[in-house]
Amino acid sequence: MLGTGLVKGFVETARNFVGTYTDSEARLTTVEYPEERLPLQEATRQFPFLVFDGQDWQAGMRCVACQICEKECPPQCIYITKSKDKKPDYIGKPQFYPAVFDIDISVCIGCLINKEVCPFEAIKMDQEYELSSTDRFDGLLVRKDRLSKSNEYYHKIHPTEAGEVDERLAAEKAKAEVKAKAEAEAKAKAAAEAKAKAQAPVESAGGATPVASGDV
Ligand code: SF4
Ligand code: SF4
Repeated sequence: MLGTGLVKGFVETARNFVGTYTDSEARLTTVEYPEERLPLQEATRQFPFLVFDGQDWQAGMRCVACQICEKECPPQCIYITKSKDKKPDYIGKPQFYPAVFDIDISVCIGCLINKEVCPFEAIKMDQEYELSSTDRFDGLLVRKDRLSKSNEYYHKIHPTEAGEVDERLAAEKAKAEVKAKAEAEAKAKAAAEAKAKAQAPVESAGGATPVASGDV
């Protein structure tokens, strides 16, 4: 019947209005922001941040400036300059790091692609949303010191995901250590064999002499 939807809407509104006096928990859904805030869901995401391990954001930065995220970012709002030197990563392998890493959050669409393509678990999505600024240029161009946040912070906002990442990195580290150990052992074995081989003609030459002189 024509108008049924309208009537249903009025009934629901009336139910909620009256309900605010009797069952405010269920019916009064408006929050008095900013004095009141609803807890964020774990999957909430806004803009990216860079993860670092340990206490020093510069030493512990996971990003190796591979620039994959910069290339893949749909609106091209990531700006990276690779360092000239290298520093050890989480498995001790020397890697480049970003001398410059900026994200223009006035352009970022929060699409998550950077997180998906990063092979180093270095860039994740933050939940911070109160980022308004009167400076529409520098205030919204977030530089690497402001982008860098600890792994503890990552665990606080995305505990499930951060736990899985830690497990994956620990497994990769253990694998790299096993490989490095096997390589070192193989190298030591090869060196010992080479040394033995180099000494062999000398020993045989030294052993042949007394026999020869005895015969004479
Ligand atoms: S979330 Fe998307 S738009 Fe924003 S920096 Fe990452 S890839 Fe670019
Ligand atoms: S955040 Fe990841 S993908 Fe982007 S440059 Fe750093 S290591 Fe590469």
